[in-house]
Amino acid sequence: MSGPLVPGRLAVVGLGPGDACYLTAEAEAALAGAEALYGYAAYLDRVPVRQGQGRYASDNRAEGARAAAALRHAAEGASVAVVSGGDPGVFAMAAAVLEELAAGPESWRALDIKIVPGVTAMLAVAARVGAPLGHDFCALSLSDNLKPWELVERRLTAAASAGFVLALYNPISRARPWQLGRALELLRGLLPASTPVVFGRAVGRGDERVTLTTLAAADPESADMATLIIVGSRQTHVIARPGRAPLVYTSRSAEGASA
Ligand code: SAH
Repeated sequence: MSGPLVPGRLAVVGLGPGDACYLTAEAEAALAGAEALYGYAAYLDRVPVRQGQGRYASDNRAEGARAAAALRHAAEGASVAVVSGGDPGVFAMAAAVLEELAAGPESWRALDIKIVPGVTAMLAVAARVGAPLGHDFCALSLSDNLKPWELVERRLTAAASAGFVLALYNPISRARPWQLGRALELLRGLLPASTPVVFGRAVGRGDERVTLTTLAAADPESADMATLIIVGSRQTHVIARPGRAPLVYTSRSAEGASA
């Protein structure tokens, strides 16, 4: 045998933040058309079971190995889907798959590779509270698993000093207990105490919790692994409303060169 007659297919599919209402029609079709599904178990659990479809669950940290396994499977001629929460291109599996593709056998490059976007956590959280990402913003992962902490601090400082609203992914975990406290401390030295801060936890799931606070009062204890944090800029404002949750927005215009 000289390899498969039909080139394999691999789709990296974003499931959105939780509830099935966030799944795009394109993502649904990609999942339905796959012979094999690869992903972190908690994400695979969100995909309805289809007869004859293989499921390969792996640990959350085994991203490179999972991506390589999915590519090998597709190279056998199969139609494979790798699932990610939110958008697969945002701190997730799409880059892991492409890293493996770049380093892997030449034959993998003939595969039909497709990235299917999803609603990423920062957009779901932002929509819950208003329009905090209405002007220039910056998404950062606070995880120092794959980059040194000094780089996280340098990027936070640069982004906050330049006046970007910040969307902070991966704020805290059992293995990374102090980083969020340190990040908030650093931001308090750069931005006004009254800067609006949003903690959006498990948005789009049954245990969703969204809270609005200020940079001065922001408590790292309010966050867990399922939380995305938005830190406003000097253009981020809060509209108080009688009997309703306040709305947060960042003005579409900014003046001057300072943050
Ligand atoms: N690809 C995902 C992000 C993966 S990184 C996406 O596009 O959303 C994992 C981080 O995403 C978590 O630590 C948290 O910061 C954020 N996150 C993922 N799902 C979330 C949700 N439903 N609500 C709030 N934050 C979420």
